[in-house]
Amino acid sequence: MPISPTRPATEAVLDPSAEEDESSEEASLRPTRLKDFVGQPTLVQNLEVYVKAARKRGGALDHVLLFGPPGLGKTTLAFILAEEMGQQITVAHAPAIEHKGQLAALLTKLEPGDVLFIDEIHRLSNVVEENLYTAMEDFRIDMVQGDGPMATAWTLKLSPFTLVGATTRTGLLTGPMLSRFGIEARLDYYDSDALARIVRRSSKILDVRITDEACEEMARRARGTPRIANRLLRRARDFAEVLGDGTLDHDTAKEALARLEVDEAGLDEMNRRFLRVIIETYGGGPVGIEALAATLSEPRDTLEDVIEPFLLQQGFLARTARGRMATDRAYEHLSIQRTRAPQGQLF
Ligand code: ADP
Repeated sequence: MPISPTRPATEAVLDPSAEEDESSEEASLRPTRLKDFVGQPTLVQNLEVYVKAARKRGGALDHVLLFGPPGLGKTTLAFILAEEMGQQITVAHAPAIEHKGQLAALLTKLEPGDVLFIDEIHRLSNVVEENLYTAMEDFRIDMVQGDGPMATAWTLKLSPFTLVGATTRTGLLTGPMLSRFGIEARLDYYDSDALARIVRRSSKILDVRITDEACEEMARRARGTPRIANRLLRRARDFAEVLGDGTLDHDTAKEALARLEVDEAGLDEMNRRFLRVIIETYGGGPVGIEALAATLSEPRDTLEDVIEPFLLQQGFLARTARGRMATDRAYEHLSIQRTRAPQGQLF
């Protein structure tokens, strides 16, 4: 069952990235306990220890920073940590916390031990971030009202709470912010076995009949990402229901993946377009990220956070000091012949 806070999060800062995916069906696929969280074994084992220790001490869990590409389970883990601690969770999206007053409103609603989850924590404004430091360290916020000699200052005392921050890259956080997290946890892309287990688990929840081959096929093409695996499953289920007898077998899975334009390596149209632009418009690179963003009409952040990490990890893309370059693997995958040697090398 999805967890929802019985004390609702402050309206204005309710996570807007609760996005398209966050249908009630998608929410039903979220594991709610650590034992049901598939993959990432070292991380899960460590978190189990931290939760047990905090519960034994009867205190709040230390602040946790979760980082990794989108769709790998950061939000899911934040909810799980609250559930394991037997506490409520409030979800906030960093850019929506516009000023100190909003931060104070969020923090003063927390009961002892509660979890505040801030997604995209690298996008907090400087003022909000600086106030969060004292909140995290001393559980207080210093408030000032008015200006000059008439100004009055007072301190808001907060209950000890756990901040769970999520970010795509730790490099985006300031040093002082990073140093205030006692627990740092990196989520990596999942291997096919773990993704197959996720597809299997989700198909049970969604009541989809699926063969092992279909499960494995979708796992292989999910770009290491549970959110994509679940999305592929939901779309392939539609094809199975409309084109077949409802059973999701290997042929139906392959047909659905072909129609969704997800290729053998798991790349979708956007991934291929990214590589093709480097090759066809920029002679294979090196090309700067700003130029790519302009050519593709995509925000730089989307390219860096969503598209590039998987292409880099899989060796389709190389990042050099002078920019991005398409690798031999990218040329082979797109069946494009190199017409000149990669820059800096003789053909
Ligand atoms: P993030 O916050 O990192 O973008 P989410 O926590 O929203 O990712 O995860 C996306 C979806 O993938 C969730 O709805 C959940 O169903 C699924 N998911 C993520 N990690 C796991 C996991 N380890 N086991 C099972 N399902 C997972």
